[in-house]
Formats: sequence, structure tokens, C-alpha cells
Amino acid sequence: MDPDPQAGVQVGMRVVRGVDWKWGQQDGGEGGVGTVVELGRHGSPSTPDRTVVVQWDQGTRTNYRAGYQGAHDLLLYDNAQIGVRHPNIICDCCKKHGLRGMRWKCRVCLDYDLCTQCYMHNKHELAHAFDRYETAHSRPVTLSPRQGLPRIPLRGIFQGAKVVRGPDWEWGSQDGGEGKPGRVVDIRGWDVETGRSVASVTWADGTTNVYRVGHKGKVDLKCVGEAAGGFYYKDHLPRLGKPAELQRRVSADSQPFQHGDKVKCLLDTDVLREMQEGHGGWNPRMAEHHSFWVGDVVRVIGDLDTVKRLQAGHGEWTDDMAPALGRVGKVVKVFGDGNLRVAVAGQRWTFSPSCLVAYRPEEDANLDVAERARENKSAAQLRRPVGGGAAPGHH
Ligand SMILES: [Zn+2]
Ligand SMILES: [Zn+2]
Repeated sequence: MDPDPQAGVQVGMRVVRGVDWKWGQQDGGEGGVGTVVELGRHGSPSTPDRTVVVQWDQGTRTNYRAGYQGAHDLLLYDNAQIGVRHPNIICDCCKKHGLRGMRWKCRVCLDYDLCTQCYMHNKHELAHAFDRYETAHSRPVTLSPRQGLPRIPLRGIFQGAKVVRGPDWEWGSQDGGEGKPGRVVDIRGWDVETGRSVASVTWADGTTNVYRVGHKGKVDLKCVGEAAGGFYYKDHLPRLGKPAELQRRVSADSQPFQHGDKVKCLLDTDVLREMQEGHGGWNPRMAEHHSFWVGDVVRVIGDLDTVKRLQAGHGEWTDDMAPALGRVGKVVKVFGDGNLRVAVAGQRWTFSPSCLVAYRPEEDANLDVAERARENKSAAQLRRPVGGGAAPGHH
């Protein structure tokens, strides 16, 4: 079993647009918040593995890449909604016990922790660097100090927002009829299970009730007059769908790899083993094969017959890949089975590591840096119809 089930992507998580976002204003503009309402499944044409469907607070519902083809359209803003909790930790600012959601621990002061809200509201010394703990069991990710970093205002279903019934509504005419607005008076948890996962709404007739905004992955409301929900440092939020161990590397090394860097087995064997658990099983041979990493510059070997043979069972071969032979590219993703996604010759292909050699700068080949920024056409989005479905009881 997965030792930390809360570390993966789950329905109910609250998200904002992320580093690879290229979907215009679907989120209502940067800072708009949404809820993960569906996880991709292997073999699904509209929502494949490593994608998610997000219900944005302002009403749009669409699928996004959460590691799909190495792209991350979303950042995790809050995971209190899936029940993440740090039972023995107290926020040293707001004094909440059993801190919910991500935990932020000062690296300068002894035993000083903040909750997400306090961290994002600039509590404590801005010059002090913090470690971020995504769950109670995840490894810390070291962040730069907040001082001078851009901070984005959050908008959506927060206290004060004007709302109408939303996609998962199943509460009859409590709202006074479809399209009748109410006002959010509070965001809170549901029992002891989940945090910041339901909204208390007062309707025109004066009645107040609670509705799901993330609880069990359901969204009962849609925002027609958004409220301010504080702020976030987008550089300090995890990419949705990226394992924490990988985030640690990325956060600790803000410098990209230099051409010709020899990067060999950056992860220790224990970390690698943890990463493999739940992703096809640990294979001790992987450690020796794991000689490339994201950002490595590599050359695809040039001999067609050899590549065809080595690709069998390791990414496979299609004739469309021929332009990549002998060309220099960059590793954009390392798969759990050891295969590598490589941006090369204007495309992205999955190669067996045995088809790749480390690029040496003296070869003076022409690395097309534009390839890094190249959009992947196959990730085109499909609009999805509004879903819904039966939900567990409530009220
Ligand atoms: Zn706090
Ligand atoms: Zn401190």
C-alpha cells in the first residue's frame, strides 16, 4: 500500500493555475481558485492518467495536465479538503492545534510553524526561509524567503462571495430556486474529517446551510460575485501531480542544469525506491539505469536498427521518430519504469535510456533551445460536459 495516500492528487484539493498554464482565462484570471473533481484514468480519451478535471469557483469545468507529458497546469493551494492534518503541530501565529493543510516550518527559528493562511498572510519574519510539508508524512521542501517574491491575490468562493447553486447541487430548493443568489458567511471543515471544505451560505429567505466546496470532491456552489481569499506565493506552492521528492530537487536547485553537466543518479536508492512504490513496483535494476534526469542534455543514438531494437518494450518505435535519430535534445520527464521523455527535433518522444548518450559540449551540436518551450499539440483540451452524480448524505 501507498505509505502516504494523501501525497497523491485527490479529488477535493483546491488549486490555482500553475507553471505550464496556457488556457487563457478559464480560471477567471490568475488567482482564481478551483477544485479537483475528477482524476484521470489510464485509457480514458478525454481525461487520461495524470490529468484532472477542475471545477473552477466561477463555473468553468475542464481538464488539465497534472504531470501528463511532463506538464503541470496547476498548483496545489490547499489540501485540507482531503483531510491532510498535522496532529501534533500548532500554528505559532493563529494557535490552531492539529494544523490542517500544508505545514510551513521556519528554518531559522527553533520549532516555529505556520499554517498556510498565516504563511501567505506574511506572518513571521519575511527574511526567514521555510520548509514546506505537503502532508504529515512527506519530506520537507526548502523554500526561499518570502521577502520580495510576487504574491497573487486569491479570488473565489470565500467569505463574502455571492453564490448560486453549482454542478453537484442536490439540495432541492434550499436556495429559493435555480439562479437565486446567496452569500457565503463562513468557510469551514466538515466534522473532523476535512478542513476548509464546506461553505456556510445564507439565502434570500434568511436560512443558512452548509454546502460542499471540496468535501468528497463535490462542489455545490458556483461563484457569481467572487470574494478575496487572501494571497499566495506561487513560487512556494507544489505543482499538482509532481511527487514531493522531485519538488525538493527543483526547489533546492534554482539553477537549471548547465550543458554538459554530468548528472548521475541524483536520488539516493531509498528515495528512488519510495518513488517506485505504487508506480509499478521497485526494480533494483532501475538504480543502475537511472543515469539521466530532467534537464539533462542528451543525444539520441543515430543507428536506426539499434534504436528500433532497444525501443522494443521501452517506449516503442514509430517512423515519425526518425528525425530524432542522432539529434541532441533535453530530458523533460523520467518515467517510473526508467524510460525518458525527450524533447528533440521539435517533438517529444519516449526513449529507453539505452538509446541515449550524455551530450558532451565539445560535440558542438546545435541544441534547439526553442524546443523546451515548444507547445505539445497532443495536449489540446477537450471541453467536458458538467458531471455530477450521486453523493453521500449531507445535512
Ligand atoms: Zn495559522
Ligand atoms: Zn523564523
